[in-house]
Amino acid sequence: MNIILLGPPGAGKGTQARRLVEERGMVQLSTGDMLREAKESGTEMGKRVAEVMARGELVTDEIVIGLIREKLEGDNGGGFIFDGFPRTLAQADALGALLEEEGQDLSAVIQMKVDDDVLVERITARSTCGSCGEVYNDITKPIPADGRCSTCGGTEFKRRPDDNEESLRTRLMAYYKQTSPLIGYYHAKGLLRNVDGLGEIEDVAAEIAAVLD
Ligand code: ADP
Ligand code: ZN
Repeated sequence: MNIILLGPPGAGKGTQARRLVEERGMVQLSTGDMLREAKESGTEMGKRVAEVMARGELVTDEIVIGLIREKLEGDNGGGFIFDGFPRTLAQADALGALLEEEGQDLSAVIQMKVDDDVLVERITARSTCGSCGEVYNDITKPIPADGRCSTCGGTEFKRRPDDNEESLRTRLMAYYKQTSPLIGYYHAKGLLRNVDGLGEIEDVAAEIAAVLD
């Protein structure tokens, strides 16, 4: 079963994707993570996209489609979770074609709805474990008092360079202008499902589980 998690930055796509990986053995394909890895390993492509990402703009369709194409050939365990991809109509068309080539399809597109005010609050308070990627939030899910990640015991935490108010404004604008048309696109295909992304992590997870089962 292959699904897309669709929603603005800070909607909780990554958090929910990680749960689905743990609970259902699905495979998370986050183009944001892939691009950050490319940047950190210092590849040519990574260097080229770093500034675009820091500003909060979208990198080219060609680059992200290339990244996804490579992964689709691999094992998909209990199914792929597309997280942060597709983000444009061209990417959505490309994904459809790639899945068809692999003899696969999409089961659902889960739209995670949240208010913009909450997004700003969540993102500017966000940090992640440098070892395992667990997501923390200064207000709702602080790093444990002993300074150790509750999942892996790691002690290094990082904040993303694009998690500042100015880049976030650009990312939100990119979402509304370039990504939100996908809501209509997948609705027309009969694949769109809505989930309230405002609740507790557990409640959102339960809503997603209800869609998948
Ligand atoms: P968020 O959803 O919190 O904004 P992501 O980790 O998904 O964060 O993406 C971070 C950045 O990576 C984006 O702002 C953009 O620059 C780039 N990016 C990620 N996925 C895509 C994509 N599918 N198309 C274009 N750019 C992307
Ligand atoms: Zn950790």
